[in-house]
Amino acid sequence: MLNRAYPNDWRHISHHVRFELAEGQCENCGVRHRSINPLTGSIVYLSTAHLDRDTANNAPSNLMSLCQYCHLSYDRRDNIHTRRRRAVLRTNPIPLFPSEELAMYP
Ligand SMILES: [Zn+2]
Repeated sequence: MLNRAYPNDWRHISHHVRFELAEGQCENCGVRHRSINPLTGSIVYLSTAHLDRDTANNAPSNLMSLCQYCHLSYDRRDNIHTRRRRAVLRTNPIPLFPSEELAMYP
């Protein structure tokens, strides 16, 4: 199970990754913070990605400075999987209580 909580010093860690280690660039496509992304035409804001999706794992090897486009692309597979899982649960909810489970199979 992934830990979704960020550490108290996350702002400092993220700043260190984006502006000291990556020197203000996306480590995937190379665009600079606050420049215009040539792919999207929008202003670049770097964020720090957890490569294994575990926000408790803040080892430098697990963190990467990414622009919005690359971060969304990196997370896209998880986001699509999450949307599909939620759609399935909406149409076929898992019974939370035994009585509901029994009611499903009269
Ligand atoms: Zn990028």
